[in-house]
Amino acid sequence: MAQAKRPPALRGGIDLGGTKIEAIVVDSRHRVVGSSRRPTPTSGTPADVAREMAAAMMEATSAAGTESSRLSGVGVGSPGTVDTATGTVSSARNLPGWDGSFALGPTLADELGTRVRVGNDVQVATDAEFRLGAGRPYQSVLGVFWGTGVGGGIVLNGEPWRGRGGAGEIGHMVVKRGGRRCPCGNRGCMEAYAGRLAMEERARAEMGKGRKSALVKIMRRKGRDRFTSSVWGAAIEQGDKLAIALIDEAVQAIGTGVASALNLLDIEAVIIGGGLGVRFGDPYVSKITAEMKPHLFPGHQPPAVHLAGLGDLGGGIGAALLVSRRR
Ligand SMILES: [Zn+2]
Repeated sequence: MAQAKRPPALRGGIDLGGTKIEAIVVDSRHRVVGSSRRPTPTSGTPADVAREMAAAMMEATSAAGTESSRLSGVGVGSPGTVDTATGTVSSARNLPGWDGSFALGPTLADELGTRVRVGNDVQVATDAEFRLGAGRPYQSVLGVFWGTGVGGGIVLNGEPWRGRGGAGEIGHMVVKRGGRRCPCGNRGCMEAYAGRLAMEERARAEMGKGRKSALVKIMRRKGRDRFTSSVWGAAIEQGDKLAIALIDEAVQAIGTGVASALNLLDIEAVIIGGGLGVRFGDPYVSKITAEMKPHLFPGHQPPAVHLAGLGDLGGGIGAALLVSRRR
């Protein structure tokens, strides 16, 4: 086999979501050269989730014509509280059995035979949009990732803002005092109205009370066991009244919460991504923009609002950026 002088600097990126694990391999110009997707386990332990992640990464590397041990490294975007120094992930409540801490980085490094760096899923996706996607023209952006939950990432004057490690929880901006119970345990958060999990719970409760909807039929037809983004998308397309009402409510909640965040930060641009955000696309970005308007502080210049430029792969591409970063 002919050998190049240096092996290509391929990097891996894994986006660990509440619904799916997306593993990609990128080249030095951030082009995706291999990918694999697996459902996130809904039961078991963090070790089971890590095993699926390693399997997805190995599939992606073989699709790229290489092996995981030959990558220059693998970055991971994970939910929960991430200790970037040790690769430990704690309290990832959307994942099975993950209330405590788990050494995700070291476990994956063992399985994959390469170095692994772990970052917060939403922050890495925001960084990817900032550096390579819709956020490129700006110095400061707010990423809003509308999916299983609603996550937020902040870049201020070119630097990610992490607070003490927990910044960016835009899904838990209060949009209704004393409102609906959120998966986080509090009441009235944006995510209680807009998170895919909360929306599914609400839809099932309404159907339990006799309200008609095609959501379950669509889910079965698609061979899914939950109301994924594509199930919601299909329900909207066929004019399902319950789905439309819940999505409208979600859009209002996002508009209200994002406007509040902007009143505080006066940021240049908002980028809407996540499973539902990407699925619904520009028409819903416009709807969210319209719902923000009445809540924006009158003296402020309205921000630009964009759909995520990297689409579904932004989380993986952002995770891979963790490997190239010097620190
Ligand atoms: Zn909450």
